[in-house]
Amino acid sequence: MFGNRKFRRVTRTGPVQVGTAYDNRGREKHTAACTAPRCGFSAEYDSRSAAELAARTHRCPAH
Ligand SMILES: [Zn+2]
Repeated sequence: MFGNRKFRRVTRTGPVQVGTAYDNRGREKHTAACTAPRCGFSAEYDSRSAAELAARTHRCPAH
């Protein structure tokens, strides 16, 4: 999930990590990805605050 792109400002909220990276068009993308092995939640957002909100409100089925 955070393997092949260069994420900056990676933070963790509970089991969910939020990182910022540029996509292949040079735009900032903000990704929230759960680190729980059986969850697999991962989503991209246009703003950092949206990604952090998703991380805070994520209800992890595997946690
Ligand atoms: Zn999860």
